[in-house]
Amino acid sequence: MSEAPLLEVRDLSLSVKTDAGPARILDHVDFDIRPGEIFGIVGESGCGKSTLAKTVLGLPPRNSVIDSGRVMFRGENLFELSRRQTARRLRGGTMGFIPQDPFQSFNPTFTIGKQMLEILRWSGLPEDPEGRPFGRADRKRHRDRLIEVLSAVQIPDPAEALDRYPHQFSGGQRQRILIAGALAARPGLILADEPTTALDVTTQMQILKLLRDLAAEYDVAMMFVTHDFGVVAQICDRVSVMYAGQTVETGTAADIIDNPRHPYTEKLIGCHPERSGNLVGIPGKVSSPIDPPMGCRFHPRCALAERRCSEVRPPLEGPAGGRRIACHVRGAAS
Ligand code: SF4
Repeated sequence: MSEAPLLEVRDLSLSVKTDAGPARILDHVDFDIRPGEIFGIVGESGCGKSTLAKTVLGLPPRNSVIDSGRVMFRGENLFELSRRQTARRLRGGTMGFIPQDPFQSFNPTFTIGKQMLEILRWSGLPEDPEGRPFGRADRKRHRDRLIEVLSAVQIPDPAEALDRYPHQFSGGQRQRILIAGALAARPGLILADEPTTALDVTTQMQILKLLRDLAAEYDVAMMFVTHDFGVVAQICDRVSVMYAGQTVETGTAADIIDNPRHPYTEKLIGCHPERSGNLVGIPGKVSSPIDPPMGCRFHPRCALAERRCSEVRPPLEGPAGGRRIACHVRGAAS
């Protein structure tokens, strides 16, 4: 695995305008993803992880403003592209997206083939593996590519599946079809937004194994958004833990799960009974992004909080690409 980052998110802050004032949804977020790795973004609901994924994809929320930072993909600053360039270059040809809900993500009145062909046309594939132009009119080659990716995600009789409607597939099969759609345009990075949350546990395990296998087979990196450290343990190489819009800890998934340093990470892992041995909640609730607490945003819920925690924001410290922690008490400099 190459060490040069595929995606670099640096000091990214984003606010959304609301009637009550600006809500800082992302606050100095910082991480990178290397080619071929599966990188988890983990945190509670409302921590900003889905907004982060959509912003990286070029679809920030309406009424949002980038307050600071940049998102670099293959060395190119995505914030310097026009919306049209972003749509063409990111959605499809260079980045794929797997949405959360396989039941809501299809139009029930069109066949699977028609909807997947739209994705391919929209993404504007430049060429096929032999270097031939992949033009808009080339329906047969597009269709062949869709059959190839449906086969890769183990949809039975993929040619026939293209002519069927969404309701003729189970939830697990629909999620596999969405994964095929994300793969179809040969992206370098796939963003997956809680892609197994709507599925039963057995199907979830199958989909996670499939994603892991496909990432290796197609050499595609993934940014995997989840609230569940059990999912992180199964699929992620490295992980970034987010709390209230801030990155609080990053490192390898195995290292963080075995030895969480940040008090929030520790609590979040404690919420998973298979990891902690019993079910322990996190007292309090995530702070409002409109009026966040001073200093460390976790301090109203933290048992280790000291006076400085409510006064000074702890920086994210540690070696670039290694274990990094934002905590006055447990951080690298403590
Ligand atoms: Fe807790 Fe202070 Fe660390 Fe924040 S900086 S997590 S309040 S100990």
